[in-house]
Amino acid sequence: MKKEELYRMYDFTGQTAVITGGGGVLGGEMAVTLAWMGANVAILDRCATLNEQITTAAAGAPGQLTLIHSDVLDTHVLQESADEVERAFGKVDILINAAGGNHPSATTTAEKSFFDLPTDALKFVFDLNLLGTILPCQVFGRQMAETKSGAILNISSMNAFRPLTRIPAYSAAKAGVSNFTQWLAVHMAQEYSPAIRVNAIAPGFLLGEQNRFLLTDAQTGELTPRGRTILTHTPMNRFGNPDDLLGAVLWLLSPAAAFVTGVVIPIDGGFAAFSGV
Ligand code: NAD
Repeated sequence: MKKEELYRMYDFTGQTAVITGGGGVLGGEMAVTLAWMGANVAILDRCATLNEQITTAAAGAPGQLTLIHSDVLDTHVLQESADEVERAFGKVDILINAAGGNHPSATTTAEKSFFDLPTDALKFVFDLNLLGTILPCQVFGRQMAETKSGAILNISSMNAFRPLTRIPAYSAAKAGVSNFTQWLAVHMAQEYSPAIRVNAIAPGFLLGEQNRFLLTDAQTGELTPRGRTILTHTPMNRFGNPDDLLGAVLWLLSPAAAFVTGVVIPIDGGFAAFSGV
């Protein structure tokens, strides 16, 4: 294959990408990157405005970036968002499901045992991560089934391979996301088109707002014992950055991964490979 053809694989000009949770840290990073690679990007998020970091980083990009107020847990709202995306940019080529995360109320602590985790908190985490991935796939997957092409990227987590302590609902929900990724990959290829691919990434430990309270001390900023344990189990001996994900994201969405579907790629500094010895 010629160098020019290889480079062109990462040119997303004219494509439409929907990114749920694109107002957040990881989805925002992916949205900005895709806009710079030429795609028109619709961020579907509950947030009222995009933070300045995202808008500044996307300024001047060849692709447009727009925020559509939406809710990944409401099919009716998602359908309205899909209509809005189609009016603005046409049919969707790429769906990234980046709305998700853990919640402190569903996390065990010295004061709050597993037995006392509130049902509402558990449901919140299950729904946001699992249902919040499945419902957008129903709405935008239907469009891809009609056009017989598309790439879906889900965001799983390290804890899907082996659960992490203290976060039972988040671990189980992300295991569900990985399982659903495989299921939908097979379903779309067999029932609609082998040109509809469904994959996931499983980020390791990135220091962000959702886990900062677990990994660093709020007062001193020092690592907590949990933060230290993670680093001693990460051969690269650092937390990840959001831009560490981008190579795998672009690859999975591009024709360079044309024969790849149903995979969950760890991006974890070697955490999953290391036995600890
Ligand atoms: P984040 O909290 O920064 O962003 C999540 C975004 O989702 C927010 O903008 C929020 O407004 C939006 N959102 C929440 N509920 C919504 C709803 N019902 N409808 C639409 N939007 C909604 O989180 P992040 O760190 O960017 O994480 C993104 C994904 O990556 C999540 O699935 C998370 O579980 C996963 N992940 C993150 C890490 C990490 O270390 N940051 C590691 C592994 C996996």
